[in-house]
Formats: sequence, structure tokens, C-alpha cells
Amino acid sequence: MPATFLPLTTRPDPPADASADASVEHVIRAIVDGRSTAETCNTDLAAGPWDFDARTGYGPGSSMGDVIPAGAPRQGELPVEYREAGEDELDARIMAAKRTLGDRVVVLGHFYQRDEVVRHADHVGDSFQLAGAARSRPEAESIVFCGVHFMAETADLLSRPEQAVILPNLAAGCSMADMADIDQVEDCWEQLEDLYGDMDAVGDDGRVPVVPVTYMNSSAAIKGFVGRNGGIVCTSSNARTVLEWAFERGRRVLFFPDQHLGRNTAKAMGVPLDQMPMWNPRSPLGGNAEDELRDARVILWHGFCSVHRRFTVDQIARARDEHPGVRVIVHPECPMPVVDAADESGSTDYIRRAIDAATEPTTFAIGTEVNLVQRLAAQYPQHTIFCLDPVVCPCSTMYRIHPGYLAWVLEGLVAGTVHNRITVPDDVAAPARVALERMLAAKPHAPGALAGAAAGVDAPRTTVRP
Ligand code: SF4
Repeated sequence: MPATFLPLTTRPDPPADASADASVEHVIRAIVDGRSTAETCNTDLAAGPWDFDARTGYGPGSSMGDVIPAGAPRQGELPVEYREAGEDELDARIMAAKRTLGDRVVVLGHFYQRDEVVRHADHVGDSFQLAGAARSRPEAESIVFCGVHFMAETADLLSRPEQAVILPNLAAGCSMADMADIDQVEDCWEQLEDLYGDMDAVGDDGRVPVVPVTYMNSSAAIKGFVGRNGGIVCTSSNARTVLEWAFERGRRVLFFPDQHLGRNTAKAMGVPLDQMPMWNPRSPLGGNAEDELRDARVILWHGFCSVHRRFTVDQIARARDEHPGVRVIVHPECPMPVVDAADESGSTDYIRRAIDAATEPTTFAIGTEVNLVQRLAAQYPQHTIFCLDPVVCPCSTMYRIHPGYLAWVLEGLVAGTVHNRITVPDDVAAPARVALERMLAAKPHAPGALAGAAAGVDAPRTTVRP
């Protein structure tokens, strides 16, 4: 089992006054009621997520245009008492259930969750930090994961078998994780094997033809595939370290599901763009010529995050125009031109730490999910912090977790009923843990130490921050 985890982020203090309201839900309701002139991408966001549970699709928000897989989990009907309860009543019921359960339950909240949920979380962080938090609470019988499906799966992989990992709304998937389907990935691997030969054959250079690397934001089935085939998992915090690990062992990397994280990280390491073909799973050879794939250093899966794809170079130009001296920080899931135009790019934890470390009042324009940006703005009133995207458009699936579902699963536990348990089958879990443990063991290289292992990779640049 892994020995260490990234440091945890503890629960943020609540805003000191009403003017520091961190709630995106309140902003959206004000827009819908005509009390705000701001804009939202969909006024349905003001409704309860249960209005969408019976419908196919990711629901209102940034992923509403994405096609959901036919077999995506659906949430059953939430009992009416939770749908009709107001914010104060749900708050009181959640707190009472948590008091009754005590150490038997731990509630985890992702940075992108709505504030009405985050305020009840025992730990707040990114997906990997929260998986570490789950492991740090072996005494808890239940782990309530307020995040999305792949995160609950990862918590299940890293927690004790007796612990129940609960996802309050089963419809909280992730449109990006869904873009790498296990059957498509297996098919891609077979096509690459036909082209490159035996994938386990170590050449004279000590390397195999391809090492598969998956972003944490992928299903357990994909993590299992990677573990079975000599590959590794990465996060947005350690993608560079993981690519270094992979280039030591393979001539090429197959990176999924997020093309942007793969491209931004490899480019910062000096991999030329023309050696990063994209694999479209709907076309033979991913839509590439054989020669392109033979020359490839990184094969990028055709996946993306619809939250981070909303950010544009024009938005950055406008922020610089309207706020001279603004510091622009974006997430590496943003498209490459946006990352290139920003001052810095880094993981959610990097963004949070960068703001925390600023000693002088600073204006920050942030390119990541609006719930986190709004919360940072409330937590750091000495700075001016705003989301680069002027349209309020949260992650559709993170937004499916509402305090009503949290109250329902917690009160279920008080009554002895486990709702919405997420369990990864053993045959998938074993290789998936191998891939995660490789990531935990991977260590960053000293600058310049890559030269021998990754011929063709130039001197590293430092665009993407840990
Ligand atoms: S923000 Fe993007 S990657 Fe994260 S859960 Fe939402 S769609 Fe998935």
C-alpha cells in the first residue's frame, strides 16, 4: 500500500459576513430572480438536481452538450422530504446526523463542490488529496464522497475493504472520464500492438514500445488496464514526474483521457507538438497515418474537460485590459493556447497555494471551476479574485451533489442503511492499485536528468506547476 500522500487541505473557515458569500447557487438564483445582471449558461441550474435524475444526460452546466454513455449510472428518486426541505433545514439535519454518527463517518468534499456541501466536509481537497484523507480515517465505517464517480472509486481502491464508500448522487459522473471507454482503450492498444509489435518487448535502449498513462480522472477499469500493461496513473500535480517515469520505460506514452493535460505537460518538457498525434477512438489508427504513430512521443486520447474548455485567450486579453497587473492562473486541463497566454498554470491545489502565498493585495483571474474560484474570493478578501469566464457555468456533475442527497445518505447511515455504495470489483481493483502505487513511488527528476532516458525530449520548461 502507498506510504505517503499529499498534504491535506483542512476545511476552510466560513465567510466572515454575508458580502463574502461563497455560494454559486445563491448567485445563480439571483440571476434567475432578476436580482443580478450576471449571466449563467443555464437557468435550470437553479432547480434541484433531482429534476434531472430521471433524464438522460449530464444535466445543466458545463457538460450539458456532451454525450453521456448509455450505461452511465442513474440516480433513483430522492425522497420528497429531502427535495422539499429548505437550506436551513438540510443544514440542521446534516449536522445532527453527523453528530450522531461521530467518528463512524467521514465526509469528503472536492474543491468544485457547491459551498452548501463543502461546509459539511471534514476534508476539502482535490481527488487525490481526498483519497489520501479516506485512507487516513481507517476507523470510519463509511466514507461519504462529495465529488464524482471516479473519485469514489479511487477512495474505494485505497480504503479498507470493510469501509463503505458512498457517492450521494449516482448521476455525478465525469464527462471527461467517460470519454475513455475501456473497450475503446483495449481496441486502441490492439491496433498499436499490430503496429509496434510485442508491447512487452524491451528493446536495446531498455524500453518498451509504449507506456500507458492515465489521468486520475478516469474510471477504475482504465486504471486497471494501465496497471496490467506496465503503466501508471497521474494527477495534475504530478503529471510531469509521471511522464518522466514513463519515458524511462517506454519510447512513447499513450496518455488518456485528457488531451490538454497531456499536451501541456509534454510540451513543457520539450516534446514537439508534431510528435503528439491525437487518437480519435472512432477512426482506424485513431485517425493517424502509420508513420505519424511511429514517430510519436506522446499519443493523446481525444478527451477533454468541458469546464476547462470554456476558458479562452480572449478572456485573458479582456482580464488584462480591464485589470492591469492582473495575475492569470489557469488549470492545465485548459487548452494549450490558454495555458500559454496565462502567467502560470497549475493544479487546483497549486492555485490555492499561490493565492495563499501572495503577501500583497493582488488581482487574480483564475481559469478553473467557478465554485472553487468563488470560495477563494470569499476566503481571501484582501485580494480581488474572479473567474476568467464571465458566464457562471459550474461542472454539471459536481453540481449533482446537493445537500438534499447528503442529508439522505447520512440519515440512511443513522438508520442503518447504506445508500449508493461504490465498489470496485476485485479483478479491476488489484491492477488499478498497482498503477496508483507506481504513481506514489515515482520521484521527480533533477533538471536535465532526462536526457538519456527520453531521447527526443528537449530541456524542460516550467510552464505547468505542481
Ligand atoms: S471539472 Fe471536468 S474533469 Fe472535473 S468532474 Fe467536472 S467534467 Fe470531470
